[in-house]
Amino acid sequence: MKISRPRGTNDFLPAETVKWQHLENILKEVSCLYGFYEIRTPIFEHTELFQRGVGETTDIVEKEMYTFSDRKKRSITLRPEGTASVVRAYLENKLYASGGPVKFYYTGPMFRYDRPQAGRYRQFHQYGVEFFGVAEPAADAEIIILAEDILERLGIDDLEVSLNSVGCPACRPKYYEKLKAYFADREDQLCDLCRSRLSRNPLRVFDCKNSSCQAVAAGAPKVADNLCAECEGHFSELKAILDVCGVKYSVDDFLVRGLDYYTKTAFEILYNDGGTMKAVCGGGRYDNLVEQCGGKPVPGIGFALGMERILQVLEEKNLIAAEIPGADIYAAYVGRESMGTVFGLMKRLRKCGYAVETDYSARSLGSQLKNAARMKVPYALIVGDDEIREGVVEVKDMTAGTQEKVAVAEIENYFKGRMLND
Ligand code: AMP
Repeated sequence: MKISRPRGTNDFLPAETVKWQHLENILKEVSCLYGFYEIRTPIFEHTELFQRGVGETTDIVEKEMYTFSDRKKRSITLRPEGTASVVRAYLENKLYASGGPVKFYYTGPMFRYDRPQAGRYRQFHQYGVEFFGVAEPAADAEIIILAEDILERLGIDDLEVSLNSVGCPACRPKYYEKLKAYFADREDQLCDLCRSRLSRNPLRVFDCKNSSCQAVAAGAPKVADNLCAECEGHFSELKAILDVCGVKYSVDDFLVRGLDYYTKTAFEILYNDGGTMKAVCGGGRYDNLVEQCGGKPVPGIGFALGMERILQVLEEKNLIAAEIPGADIYAAYVGRESMGTVFGLMKRLRKCGYAVETDYSARSLGSQLKNAARMKVPYALIVGDDEIREGVVEVKDMTAGTQEKVAVAEIENYFKGRMLND
């Protein structure tokens, strides 16, 4: 029976993983410049964490979680996103005790039982940051600037930040009532799912892809017109910081994001895809999430960026040239008797940082050298009985086609300072 990979998952082969590594290196580098260090949490958690942390009325929790019972009948879920797990780890490790800001970044696989289609997978990868302990809009500005910095360093320019404020527990209930009343009057035009969520979270209608729901949502009261003084002040201050920093943004009244936990700032970063602006990154503030997950109230803000999406953009825009680094030296030999000597030489050269390839089956010297040429190595070693007896190896410069004898004891020195493959 042929066993294939589960639907919606991918095998990334070396020609792909070098691109992932290039992306991951930049993500790590830039995160550290902003003082965000890596956190690694389990890829599975107790289901309840996501029910509480992501929100019961979200698409993720209602329809998309990979949930199963383990051998002791505990309900386990493969993480559908990163924030809830990081909040749990923040609490479990008592990181609030320092009283100061705590900043993390993460990368890794996420799992959502969605219908697989182009760009949508059941196992996909996100990079994200979480910033705890700062309620001021400076934290919001910092992560928006970080996200832009990453995208710009990757070569993606022509970016725009789409920004909104979704209010807080002080102003949201009144706004929800207004919104519910507005939608209730037009309930017949809403899809079944929006109708069922109306009483619990009317904001979800803004996220619905159904065209009739979208038409109704377009005329709905705007959250920005219904903010309390504190949320209003926070939003204005954030915009003022972004103005000073030259960040291009536009306010999108209907940007609410698909998660329940956002308060105040919600944002997406869009790039120009041949004239249409598309999101590559989304995030927002979650000042009540830590409390919702069982801690004392601690403000927080974060974003996540879809790594498959970013790599796709980089490829479309020809911005990624990462290639598998080739070998520097091919160690060819004549006869199995020379293998031991060759492996000893290879170990010494690899110790010096050279990538060395060889033939593992003692094929003819001709086919080994053909292989070396095919691999485009700059140098080949040739080791045979005579050479071993004389304590030398032949070094062939594959570009010039020239060949010279080098004492075995001198092999490291010979290559020192020579231009090899990157
Ligand atoms: P979200 O956590 O839903 O806000 O998604 C953040 C980013 O993750 C999106 O902008 C997408 O690029 C990416 N993403 C979300 N779901 C998937 C999926 N099923 N497959 C691939 N990428 C995804």
